[in-house]
Amino acid sequence: MTVLVLDFDGTMTDAEAEGRPFRDGYLEDLAALSGRPVGDPEIAAIADEVEAELMRAPASHPFLWMGRAVAPATVDPYLRMVPIAHRILDRFDALPGPTDRGRLLGSVLYKYNYAKTLGHPVFRAGAGEVLRALAGTDTWIVTNSDTHAVAGKVSALDRETSGVEWLTSRVRGYARKFDVDDAWTGVDAELAVPGLDRPVLLRRRMYHDILRAILDAAGATFADLVVIGDIFELDLAMPLSLGARVGLVASDRTPPYERAFVEAHPRARMIAELSEIPAYAFG
Ligand SMILES: [Mg+2]
Repeated sequence: MTVLVLDFDGTMTDAEAEGRPFRDGYLEDLAALSGRPVGDPEIAAIADEVEAELMRAPASHPFLWMGRAVAPATVDPYLRMVPIAHRILDRFDALPGPTDRGRLLGSVLYKYNYAKTLGHPVFRAGAGEVLRALAGTDTWIVTNSDTHAVAGKVSALDRETSGVEWLTSRVRGYARKFDVDDAWTGVDAELAVPGLDRPVLLRRRMYHDILRAILDAAGATFADLVVIGDIFELDLAMPLSLGARVGLVASDRTPPYERAFVEAHPRARMIAELSEIPAYAFG
C-alpha cells in the first residue's frame, strides 16, 4: 500500500511566475507602511538587494518563524518576502514591534497579496497530466495555503487538462509546516544536513497530525507514505525522519545542500520532471 502526499505551491505550480503579483502587491503595501510612494524605486532596490543576497548564500538566510529558522528563505517568492519586508521596514523605521510586525507580515499581508495570485495560477509543465495519471490512487494535497484556494487552482487545472477534478476534495490546507512544537516528542528534535550550519527542526506537529490522520484513514504507516515537495526542510524532512520516502521537485533556486542530502539518502530522490512521480510512488 502507498499513500502519496503532494505539496502544491512550487511543487505543482511555477511559484516564481505565479508569485509576481504577490511580490508587486506586497511591495506596494510595504511602501505605504513605510511612508513611501507607490512604485518607490528605493523599495524596489531593497527588494532586489535582499534577493541577490539570498541567492548567493541560501544556507545563511533562513525563513524565520516565531524567531526560529524553519526553512530556507530562498526557495519561493512567498517566503522570500519576509526578509525583504523586514529589511524595508527596518530601513524606514516602520512598525518596530516584533509582535505587530509578525502578525501583519505573516497573516494580513500574506493573505491579502496571495489572493492576487489566485486568478491566474501558473502550473509546472506536466502538472495536469501527472495528476490525471494519479486518479484512483490514494493521493492527497497537503499545503500551508488555504484549502479552498488550492482546490480552486486544481479546478483551474482541470479546465486545462480534464481528469484532475477528483483531487479538489483531497486538499488539506493550513498545514502550518513551519510550526515547530518542542513539547511534541514523536520525532527527533533535529536533523543535521551537511553544508547547512544550523539544524533542520523536525517537530512540526500540525503537519505531522494531518499526515497521521490521512495514514490512519488508510490503515497505513509512515513507511507506506511518499511525500513530494519543493522545499526539503518544510515538506520532506519530518516525514523522511519518520520512515517515509520523499521526492524533492527541483528548481534553479533549490539550495545545493538540500540537493546533495536528497541525492545521498536511500529513501529520497530529486524529481526533475513531474512525470517521474507516479512511477516513483507507485511503481
Ligand atoms: Mg511548496
